[in-house]
Amino acid sequence: MKQLLGHQPIEGRFRDAMQRGRMHHAWLLHGVRGIGKFALAEKLAGMLLCESGSACGECHACQMLKAESHPDVHRVGLLEKKRDISIDQVREVLDFLSLSGAEGERRVVILDQAERLNNQAANALLKGLEEPSAGSVLIMVCADAMKLPATVRSRCLMQHCSPLTENDVRTVLESKLDANIIDLAVKLADGCPGSVSCLEDDSVAKALAEWQRLVEDVTRADIGKVENWCRAHVVSVPHELIVRALLQPVYPRLQDYQGTGFEALEATHKAVKDCLRWPGEVIRQSLRASPTLLSCVLELRTALKSTD
Ligand SMILES: [Zn+2]
Repeated sequence: MKQLLGHQPIEGRFRDAMQRGRMHHAWLLHGVRGIGKFALAEKLAGMLLCESGSACGECHACQMLKAESHPDVHRVGLLEKKRDISIDQVREVLDFLSLSGAEGERRVVILDQAERLNNQAANALLKGLEEPSAGSVLIMVCADAMKLPATVRSRCLMQHCSPLTENDVRTVLESKLDANIIDLAVKLADGCPGSVSCLEDDSVAKALAEWQRLVEDVTRADIGKVENWCRAHVVSVPHELIVRALLQPVYPRLQDYQGTGFEALEATHKAVKDCLRWPGEVIRQSLRASPTLLSCVLELRTALKSTD
């Protein structure tokens, strides 16, 4: 199987549990988005079901797993256009798990986006966690474990997944992205390669690279060009990445700030906060993205100029 980067300690713990015959029946993989938690869940399922116990990727079990046709694996997650994971989906999970019987037979459920379980669904799941069927393993994936009821959390083996090192991010991205966007992508990914997966789209990658050049030194940015860029591309480039590219050159300036203008520094911090808030505000207040982004840039530019 293709090596999965960054989560070896968890793989090690899982392997250890398998070898000792002390497999916990519910694993909760939690950590920020975009670091490969779901891929890790798939790998752990592979380790359990693989004929050689190694998620080899070659054997019949691994092939079926890859094709999502393995009869002993059930995947559940948020359905399209739904706000949460429903009790019906959890009932399917419980039914699936109760089918396991034969000695030594493994059944695996991968539950993605567990933070989206609604109350009813979480309560139903709880029942399954209290009375696990022999041989069944539930692997839950969750970006924010605190959104799960404490009763669910306490019955799971919590495994925190960390962001990847810069080298690992680079390795992951090198297999997916165009060489000329890699450096920027690694910087913007900030340990989470999944957060820049949109750059696999060449037009998004080009637009973001252009944005980065435009705002590299925002105090000297050509505002006319910035405005044009906002109009043309704000819809197609993820807002979080627009902000990351905008602020990335600003942070070192703030850290190295040697000036005495306290107010100027305060204004810059406020401008940075406003930029960080912008993606959320656009959604929450249905703001028009292009002019509001432009005003963020202008606020940042004015503040930074006053620190010069
Ligand atoms: Zn295998």
